[in-house]
Amino acid sequence: MSKRAVVLLSGGLDSATTAAIALADGFDLYALSVDYGQRHRFELEASRRVAESLGVKRHVLVRVDLSAFGGSALTANMDVPKDRDEQAMSAGIPITYVPARNTVFLSLALGHAEVVGAADIFIGVNAVDYSGYPDCRREFIEQFERLANLATKAGVEGTLRHRIHTPLIDLTKAEIVRRGTELGVDYSLTHTCYDPCANGVSCGRCDACTLRLQGFADAGLQDPIEYQT
Ligand SMILES: [Zn+2]
Repeated sequence: MSKRAVVLLSGGLDSATTAAIALADGFDLYALSVDYGQRHRFELEASRRVAESLGVKRHVLVRVDLSAFGGSALTANMDVPKDRDEQAMSAGIPITYVPARNTVFLSLALGHAEVVGAADIFIGVNAVDYSGYPDCRREFIEQFERLANLATKAGVEGTLRHRIHTPLIDLTKAEIVRRGTELGVDYSLTHTCYDPCANGVSCGRCDACTLRLQGFADAGLQDPIEYQT
């Protein structure tokens, strides 16, 4: 019988690569995307395209409106930083941090995993992209995995031993792009930009665009998506 895994799929480069790795590891994928009240819809559209291209068993979209809290440039009307260099990006936790987002996302993934009988959850967090997001660190993931096995019926009864997989956590963006390219990920389907223009074209200047472009450049590969600049 095939193994099932829940994969958090944002529509970005990292989650697409993570899903491809899970697929290559032999899992049947149950993709989960979250409409968390982000300012634009393009990443959710991208998540649908990526899920389809990977042939997932099911793709579920859950709505949890974190814009009710705001507190982030991704969920409130605040300016997204542009044209920052490596030093500026690595100085503190940026305004694009969404309060407790990965805790919320992993909790949703855990609930979905329990229902579909999946022990394994994949999330494309990365600890080396300068962001300093507290919920992208290995310590956080380890603690969440402990919680997962205390929090569910399946965990307590011992029918499932939950594991949180973070295959990208120690990879550079260039290594992520190379790995995904080897696995045949179609990066033209993904969306990364925090602040795209109205037709969805990426700005090329926010931290997410900067890191993505640098990753492709360092990998010696061409980024297939379009940019405004
Ligand atoms: Zn951008």
